Amino acid sequence: MSMSAAVSAQQPAHRWAIVLHGGAGVIERATMDAKTEAAYRASLTVALGAGAKVLDRGGSSLDAVEAAIKILEDDPLFNAGRGAVFTAEGKNELDSAIMDGATLNAGAVAGVTRTRHPISLARAVMEKSPHVMLMGGGADAFAAQAGLEQVDPSFFFTERRWESLVKQLKEEGLPIPARPTGAPPAPLQPVAEIEPPGAHKFGTVGVVALDKQGNIAAGTSTGGTQAKRWGRVGDSPIIGAGTYASNRSCAVSATGTGEYFIRLGVAREVCNLVYFKSMPVQKAVDEVIHKELEALHGDGGVIALTPDGQMAWSFNTPGMYRARQSEGGKVQVEIYADEP
Ligand code: ASP
Repeated sequence: MSMSAAVSAQQPAHRWAIVLHGGAGVIERATMDAKTEAAYRASLTVALGAGAKVLDRGGSSLDAVEAAIKILEDDPLFNAGRGAVFTAEGKNELDSAIMDGATLNAGAVAGVTRTRHPISLARAVMEKSPHVMLMGGGADAFAAQAGLEQVDPSFFFTERRWESLVKQLKEEGLPIPARPTGAPPAPLQPVAEIEPPGAHKFGTVGVVALDKQGNIAAGTSTGGTQAKRWGRVGDSPIIGAGTYASNRSCAVSATGTGEYFIRLGVAREVCNLVYFKSMPVQKAVDEVIHKELEALHGDGGVIALTPDGQMAWSFNTPGMYRARQSEGGKVQVEIYADEP
């Protein structure tokens, strides 16, 4: 047995932990019906459970992050994968990133339109390419080469997001693009709004996880902001802004108006406070969200986790879909600011 194997064999197993978010926004009890609320809570619980299962059987934090995010990407309730918001041109352009806290390896993609699971593509960029970030058609081509499932862009279409786009474009006096090829025929009546208009401004998904080996990882996946134009890319796929993980400090995933998160380098900023100022991670996320982000009039939130198992979240919007669990602990699922 090598020296390092002997040392690691003596190390106590870490208690795993996982925290996830499904986006922050104007999510309020007064405007949320019971059925919608139950649907969100159920989806968050399923995704958390998938990640927790990976961790519990000794899987890596990276595997847990990917497993949970893939479920949220397939769930039309969230603005990631299927159910992503549309650009002003009527397309779904997806951004995602993943980072391994043990090695500082990272992978990210921006503006992909054909890869079913952008989080798996971000991971492939990290593990199977010499690069950190790929964009657009090239990223999708790499995904196909890496054997990741490719879909027609209409796979990501949802009526609810389409109607929401049309409404916003009308309000802004912008041209309405043609209904995407491959989308189902327009319904005779608008679909029942699953939530009140404007209730759900963001909806990005993100996961941070700690495995039994003591390694942390972070991942984020999003359709970005509705009616984005000109190839706009937000913070989610920017390492250090919307996503960051380092075993020496913490793992972070963000949601909110990406432009502010990029300018503040939010995810890395949180980790710097933990590392350089030895701040407890809850204090660090509160500092960045409630002081630095608010000073710029930015809005949104973050989840965070440290290698010693401290779990944290913070947001300055009325709500953020979120859930967490640590080994042996209860599943905690929350939506509004005043919970628990
Ligand atoms: N942060 C994402 C972006 O700006 C949006 C979101 O969190 O929903 O692209």
